[in-house]
This record gives sequence, C-alpha cells and structure tokens, in this order.
Amino acid sequence: MLPFLSIAKARKLLVTKKISPRELLDELQKRIVTINPKVQAYLSWDYEKAALEAQRADLSKPLGGIPIGIKDAILVQGAPAFSASRILEGYQASYDATVIKNLRAAGAYPLGRLNMDEFAMGSSTETSAFHPTYNPWDLSRTPGGSSGGSAAALAAGMAMAALGSDTGGSIRQPAALCGCVGMKPTYGRVSRYGLIAFASSLDQIGPLTHTVEDSALLLNALAGPDPKDSTSLSLPGEDFTSQLGRDLQGIRIGIPKEYFVDGIEPQVRQCVEKAIAQLTSLGAEAVEISLPHTQYAVSVYYIIVTAEASSNLARFDGVRYGHRSKKANDLLSLYEQTREEGFGAEVKRRIILGTYVLSSGYYDAYYLRAQKVRTLIRRDFEEAFSKVDLLVSATSPETAFRCGEKSNDPLKMYLADIFTIAANLAGICGISLPCGFAQKEGKKLPVGLQLLGPSFAEKMLFRVAHAYEEATAWHQDPPPLL
Ligand code: GLN
Repeated sequence: MLPFLSIAKARKLLVTKKISPRELLDELQKRIVTINPKVQAYLSWDYEKAALEAQRADLSKPLGGIPIGIKDAILVQGAPAFSASRILEGYQASYDATVIKNLRAAGAYPLGRLNMDEFAMGSSTETSAFHPTYNPWDLSRTPGGSSGGSAAALAAGMAMAALGSDTGGSIRQPAALCGCVGMKPTYGRVSRYGLIAFASSLDQIGPLTHTVEDSALLLNALAGPDPKDSTSLSLPGEDFTSQLGRDLQGIRIGIPKEYFVDGIEPQVRQCVEKAIAQLTSLGAEAVEISLPHTQYAVSVYYIIVTAEASSNLARFDGVRYGHRSKKANDLLSLYEQTREEGFGAEVKRRIILGTYVLSSGYYDAYYLRAQKVRTLIRRDFEEAFSKVDLLVSATSPETAFRCGEKSNDPLKMYLADIFTIAANLAGICGISLPCGFAQKEGKKLPVGLQLLGPSFAEKMLFRVAHAYEEATAWHQDPPPLL
C-alpha cells in the first residue's frame, strides 16, 4: 500500500513515472482524512499548499516528490508553529528552519504540523495544549513522546517520514512505541536553527522513518554545517547510506549491564535479548560492559534540561510571539498573566525547577554539580567506546503505556526515558528500530531496540541497524486497526 512504502521504494515509482508526486500526496491525504480523527497525529495540514509543492517537485533530486511531516517545534515559513503550546497559538513562522531548507534543496517538501508534548516536555504527547495523540497499535495507549505525532502519523501511514527532535529521547522513544525507526544524530550534526528551543545543549533534530535506509537518506539531506547555528559542526558532506549492505564481521557490540536491570518489562527484555543473539549470529561479537554513572543520568538531565528551558522560555512574554493576555494593565502583569495563561502545568513545573537550580545559593549545589556529573557520564561512554563499536539496549523499558497512566505522576513519566537520556547528555548518536512485539490484552505492541554509537559514527550505526532489519521482518507489519 502506497502510504506504507519506504521513501526508497516510493522514489523508484516516482522516477519511473509509475506514480506522480501528486498521486502520492493524494494517497496520504486520503489516509489523513479518514485516520487522523482517530489517531490525532496532525495538529493541522495544508493540502492546497502541499499540492502546489507536489506539482513543482523536481524528481531529479534525491528526495524529489517526497512529502515529510514536521514536528510542530520546527519552523516552516508561513505555517503555524505552536510547539503545541497555547502561548504560541496564532504564531506563524516567518522563515524556514535550516532543516526545512535542506529538505527542500533535496527535493522533499513539508506536509502538516505534527503534535507533540508542549515545548517537547514529556514522553506521551499528552502535555500538548491541543489534544493528545493516540497510538495506532492500540488507541487506548500513548504513542510516546515528545515527537508522538511524528511517530503515530508514520505508523498509521499518514506520512512517508517525519521530522522530530530529541532532547532526552523524544525521537527514539516514540519510534520504539509506534514501531518505526527513529534516529538522534550526534549533537551538532544537524542545525537547530528554526527549532523552537527546549534545552539547547541537548536538542537535536532527526528523522523518523519506516526503514533504516530511509533514515540514512533523510540524514543525508538534513546534516551539514550552518553558519546560523554556532553549535553545528563544520564536517564535510557524507553519504550516510555508504555502509548499508555491509556485513557485521568485526563489529563489537557492548551490552551495558546497567541497562538490563529489574523494571524492564519481561517481554521487552526477551525481544532485546533475541535481537542481540541475532546480531551475533550475523557476525558481531557481544561483550558485557559497564557505564557506572548511569544511575545519575535522569537526575542530571532534569537539572540541566529545566535550567536551560527556564532560560529559553523567558522569551515568551506576550510582547513578541503568539498569545498576549487581555487581562494585563501594566508591563509586569502582561508578562505574568500571559505566562500564567499560556503555559501548561508541565512547562510551568520545569520553569520553576530550572529557575530554582540556577538561583544564587543553589547554582553550585545543583546546576554546577550536574554539569560535573554530566562529564562523568560522557566519560563512561568514551571508555566504553574504546572497547566496543556500539552499545545495544532496549529503547524504552516498556511498551506503549495507557493514556493517563503516568500523566499525574511526573516522576513515573520521567523514568520513561531512562535508557535514552544519557546519549543526549554525552552528545552521541543513537537509533531505535523495531525488534519485535509484546502481547498485551490481546494487542500487539511494538518493541524498540536502541543502538548507541560514538559521536560521528552514524554510518556504522546505520550499517548495523540495516543488517538487523534485513534479517528480520518486524518493520514490515502495519498496525492492524488501520
Ligand atoms: N521526555 C523527556 C522530557 O520530558 C525528553 C523529551 C525530549 O526529548 N524532548 O524532557
């Protein structure tokens, strides 16, 4: 079925003129009209505009004619960009993010605004100020988050691929819970210019796709230096597909023992253990290693992420963007009222926490200490990567959880990212790909395998992920409901 085709296959049909870009878009449009009311992955989409872009598509380019769903935190000129927050309601982007420019340069075009947790703060897409998104595998469950709209749209065949952003797991975890491939590139690989900032030392944009090959194809378009983002790296252009198809001889995979502890759902653990066996049968060698500071990752993350968020979100004051309170009668009350009305509970919690850890008297005890422990976490990885090429774990300790199950318990929600957060703190790259299904109450729920590689090792990650994907069929199953 067209909407579930990989980009690589769709491109073949486009280039040989078996379908036109407009026909491809129309197939997606049909799915969106019938399925989005159930899954609620899109906040909005502009079919007319997309149709114009489809008509103009240049098929000679590597992604010519491919529509891509965009997380609501990434700016597309003339399109709404709310970061799923009331405080940005009504805001329209005045320029294209660098990733959008890069996608366009590769021939792709943006299609629609995908739901997310408000300002990407969450793991379930339930903190969106507009509506939750539901998991296409079981509509009573969340798609994960914060890029839950991106993962759900893709899994439900409402997008060929999508962009997400990953600050602590927000691409990989929803990809795992929805049965797609989600890649977090090395920090600095992809420009953040035009991404509504959450925590700038951690945020990284990346692709969600049906296959590993598509992920590499999209990263080819997204990656590259950008003078507008001083943290983007000036690395020469690479072809991230160049190692696809190579076998796994000589690859050493590390099994971090701290990632195989009690608390992982038994069915998830089984799938991951089988995947490791599969990787070794394909020629890789598995060795146990240790990342001794793992236990501090979640605490360190929630100090750094809230500190940076409290600073980044100071710009939303009712003066420049989006919502402005009507109740205010002077400047200070304009700031206060606008922020009171515009931010949701989770965002306020983080701003308060972040302001606290940065405040004089507490800065050294919390923020500074967290930065030091962050260095220890980074060193754990450096040490590990001196012995192995990559690390393997579950992406998430559990499969998709029920809507409402964690939304009243922030600590429970924060633990959803226990396996993904450390990679952001260390700046390294990671990918999640389907590695099986768990059975729960008569429903099949996808399980994600996480591969983590050293900085700049995306090609090797793609090679290993692709070899595993070629040897298994998990990624070929669309959700039964749709
Ligand atoms: N769930 C984590 C958080 O709430 C990660 C979010 C993200 O990666 N954007 O901060």
